Amino acid sequence: MDLTDLQKDLRRAAREFAEGEFREKARYFDEIEDFDFSLHKKACECGFVGTFIKEEYGGHGLGFFEHALITEEFWRVDPGCGQAILSCTFGAEMIQEYGTETQKKTYLPPLVKGEAIMGFGITEPDAGSDVTSVKTKGERRGDKFVINGSKMFITNGCVANYILVFCLTEMEEKDPHRRYSVILVETDRKGFEAQKIKGKMGIRASDTAELRFNDVEVPVSNLIGRQGYGFYQLMDFFNRTRLHVAAQGVGVAQGALEMAIAHVKKRRAFGKTLSEFQGVQFKLAEMATKIEAARGLYWRAAYLLDHGKIDPALISMAKWFGGEVAVFVTNEALQLHGGYGYIAEYDIQRFYRDAKIVEIYEGTKEVEKAIIARELLKRVF
Ligand SMILES: Cc1cc2nc3c(=O)[nH]c(=O)nc-3n(C[C@H](O)[C@H](O)[C@H](O)COP(=O)(O)OP(=O)(O)OC[C@H]3O[C@@H](n4cnc5c(N)ncnc54)[C@H](O)[C@@H]3O)c2cc1C
Repeated sequence: MDLTDLQKDLRRAAREFAEGEFREKARYFDEIEDFDFSLHKKACECGFVGTFIKEEYGGHGLGFFEHALITEEFWRVDPGCGQAILSCTFGAEMIQEYGTETQKKTYLPPLVKGEAIMGFGITEPDAGSDVTSVKTKGERRGDKFVINGSKMFITNGCVANYILVFCLTEMEEKDPHRRYSVILVETDRKGFEAQKIKGKMGIRASDTAELRFNDVEVPVSNLIGRQGYGFYQLMDFFNRTRLHVAAQGVGVAQGALEMAIAHVKKRRAFGKTLSEFQGVQFKLAEMATKIEAARGLYWRAAYLLDHGKIDPALISMAKWFGGEVAVFVTNEALQLHGGYGYIAEYDIQRFYRDAKIVEIYEGTKEVEKAIIARELLKRVF
């Protein structure tokens, strides 16, 4: 399997953009735990944001595969900046799939132009992997929903213009999968509060926040999809977004491998460069092979998705293995830097910290394995 010429060009352009626009600034953003959103705007102007959004909604009419390729290239240069830019459409996949025409025409075009940022609040202080424990309520009163509750670890919580909120709307429903709905909340609504979470281990350029909803009122027309079917919509949504996370894992691993190769070619020990030792060469060979395998998984899953075939097991394999490879490769790459790897001045330390998130968000590695096993057990071989 190979990329089309257009995909190759896009990948090259994404790499050049990342190298030119944020490689030099990445360490600073990590230190200050903040980001310069003029870079996001620039990435939008260059066509890197929202490639999966259809042309009629202001997008470029490409696919999830293209979004994943750009993600890999951005994360190869810096995961924090990559996440700060590309997460700005997180939730658009849900609007595009389940929103009304009016919702798609209202909320999607500004994301592509860099005029709006969005997020998606699912996790709560007491509900993460088990989304059926979510307690934030969206109570229907006439032509409004009144939202009360809190959300935890929400990407773009402090910078978003609108946020999708996974809410309990069917309080009396016995089936836990039929209790939830997805509601869009504009962040300038009365009763909405966001507090930045500082001190993250990695992807520190990306905003993460705790959200509070105190009697936030939104019109019923802000419901995305079908009332009571939010759980099913969410599972379907993750089949798209987990691919991007798989690509993040490959990107951070590829960046770390390249740093390791540059270092071992220069660094000398016992009268030779490190790259001359077979033990070092074997490490590099293992790292590169695992990256290629992880890349192959996400490419195939993304190709199938763009051709109308959703394979939840394959997507979960790509996401789990992408995280595993990210953590393995950044660890080995840091090891090859010796003591220098432990010092913040060397980018490999940041990549080592950044990689871990791939195993945690949008389904921990354990959740991914549970999905893979569930799908396997359903199959007849
Ligand atoms: C930087 C960052 C950004 C994030 N962005 C967002 C966002 O934008 N929106 C959003 O909604 N959330 C976001 N999250 C939250 C993230 O998705 C959750 O942290 C993640 O889903 C895990 O939930 P939890 O933290 O509650 O862990 P828990 O669910 O408490 O899990 C803790 C551990 O137990 C394991 N575990 C749980 N259940 C089982 C089981 N049945 N079998 C085996 N092991 C199990 C898990 O795998 C994990 O290792 C973000 C998190 C971070 C750190």
